[in-house]
Amino acid sequence: MNTSRFAGKTAIVTGAGSGIGFAIAELMSSQGAQVLAVDRDTAGLARLGADIDTVTADVTDPALPDTLRQKLEGRPLSILVNNAGIGGGGRADETGEENFRRYFEINVLALFSLSKFAVSAMRQSGGGTIVNIASIYAIVGATGSAGYSTSKAAVDGLTRQMATDFGPENIRVNAVAPGLIETPLTAERIRREAWRRHIFVEQAPLRRVGLPGDVAQAVAFLASDEAAFITGATLRVDGGWAVGRYPRQGDAA
Ligand code: NAP
Repeated sequence: MNTSRFAGKTAIVTGAGSGIGFAIAELMSSQGAQVLAVDRDTAGLARLGADIDTVTADVTDPALPDTLRQKLEGRPLSILVNNAGIGGGGRADETGEENFRRYFEINVLALFSLSKFAVSAMRQSGGGTIVNIASIYAIVGATGSAGYSTSKAAVDGLTRQMATDFGPENIRVNAVAPGLIETPLTAERIRREAWRRHIFVEQAPLRRVGLPGDVAQAVAFLASDEAAFITGATLRVDGGWAVGRYPRQGDAA
């Protein structure tokens, strides 16, 4: 393990009290970053390693940028990982406007505000990098997820848009699009719904559900200097699911 990959760098990771965000915070901390972990789940944050600083907050709280500014205590900010998000949802004809708006408030608007705060902090130190967690549902049409998949498509688009705005200031903006990852958000559904396992496991080239660590490794790569010439990219971490169906020999045509 490269314990100095992020030496001297401060990283903010949102949604770090559970699942993918937890794995990202732990990995970056183990590779030398000073991590500031944000979540509304205090108990989840308490399970993070002792080296990780925490902020209990809702990412939609307009006061959060100020809280984070104070927490940084003048340290330069190098990395923001916009991971906090909500999943689930329903078909478009079953989704009310209020519900639809909620996906945008958490998955898009909070990410937009925190990114603007991060950019203002990164400018002071000559650059930095943002990694957004989108979803494979941003890229394919996904029935039963009107608010979720549309909000993640906005994350995907905003990633490319911000990359063009901030690239000249040495601020890179990329995204990761996970497929089905086993986390507290999805574990129960994976266990209960045979059709989900069939679609995401048996029909995927790598034939397994993803783990939070699979996504964390991709995020760490994009946030590191190894990705110095990569901006505006969305990296799929889905076991190959989005590239096509791979029926087994003998499956019905
Ligand atoms: P998770 O296990 O539910 O973890 C997400 C964490 O973010 C939870 O601690 C959650 O707190 C927190 N959070 C949610 N909304 C928040 C808010 N408004 N303010 C502060 N914290 C908030 O979910 P996950 O599976 O790790 O998902 C992480 C990200 O990956 C999400 O953006 C999700 O859309 C994306 N993603 C996941 C999958 C997957 O298969 N798991 C696939 C594609 C994309 P609460 O528990 O209180 O809500």
